[in-house]
Amino acid sequence: MKISLLLTFLILPVLVAAQHPDADRTDVLVIGGGTGGTAAAIQSARLGARTILVESASMFGGMLTAAGVSCADGNDQLPSGIWEEFRQALYKHYGTKNLNTGWVSNTCFEPHVGDSIFKSWAKKEKILKYCLAIPLAMYKAGNKVTGVSVTDETGKILKINAKVVIDATETGDVLAASGAAYDLGMDDPAVTNEKEAIQKNDIIQDLTWAAILKDYGPGIDKTITRPLNYDSLKYFCSTAEAPCNGKPYIYNTKKVLDYGSCPVRPAVHQTSTCLIGQLMEMIIT
Ligand SMILES: Cc1cc2nc3c(=O)[nH]c(=O)nc-3n(C[C@H](O)[C@H](O)[C@H](O)COP(=O)(O)OP(=O)(O)OC[C@H]3O[C@@H](n4cnc5c(N)ncnc54)[C@H](O)[C@@H]3O)c2cc1C
Repeated sequence: MKISLLLTFLILPVLVAAQHPDADRTDVLVIGGGTGGTAAAIQSARLGARTILVESASMFGGMLTAAGVSCADGNDQLPSGIWEEFRQALYKHYGTKNLNTGWVSNTCFEPHVGDSIFKSWAKKEKILKYCLAIPLAMYKAGNKVTGVSVTDETGKILKINAKVVIDATETGDVLAASGAAYDLGMDDPAVTNEKEAIQKNDIIQDLTWAAILKDYGPGIDKTITRPLNYDSLKYFCSTAEAPCNGKPYIYNTKKVLDYGSCPVRPAVHQTSTCLIGQLMEMIIT
């Protein structure tokens, strides 16, 4: 964690200054268009607040889409909110409610489908602007973060002030740069009064590399050239059938591959061009 915080400071050099006088003004500024940030930005605009969403990747949805965690487990019975709306949009897209194509989850989908659903919702909100960028610096007034400056992929600098700034980056880049206090791990129920938070601890989930694989069907050989430094020994014991001198993983290869199997159907929306269009409009005005 110390390393990641160090990286945070390197990525976002602290140019802590008062609210920038030449900045664009908005009601709500969300940094990070992942699972939480995208939902926050869309709902904020739906409630009538002028909103700017700054995301460093070209996809909306973060872990849920760009990072390939598109078979979400957890409580599948949540009856409302943006997750339910998202789920209904997936049912519509795939023409079925049976999205339990992977055994870990009742709701699996292709990452690009999730991204295009979020983008189609964002596009409907005329007061929501999207900026594909990484913050360069943040502005503070007293102990309140009031805005950031960002550079887009063309190198242009955009300064944004907001009444409310939401840091929805996974490592809290903006708040870390502001010097705000932070805590790690699970919440302390004594502080939050949340009954769901069972006990305070410092557990942080292990790093996981997610990959999207494509099934080309039986008999198709898509073996790639052996990558430089590839060492098959590192993957021994990774499934029950893999060569193994020690303790094999309990599941066979098919079961491992079926863990997060996604349904397949062509995407309905391709809206990234429109959103980039919004970005350019915002920079010019
Ligand atoms: C492998 C794995 C499996 C998981 N499985 C489940 C599951 O099955 N069910 C479940 O409920 N939860 C699961 N989780 C947890 C869940 O994915 C996260 O809790 C959730 O995605 C967090 O959402 P977020 O919006 O805070 O962050 P993220 O979804 O990670 O979004 C952060 C966003 O911020 C952007 N960003 C980062 N830095 C910057 C910057 N400086 N400037 C601009 N943008 C930036 C990123 O590009 C990203 O889009 C899993 C997590 C992992 C890692």
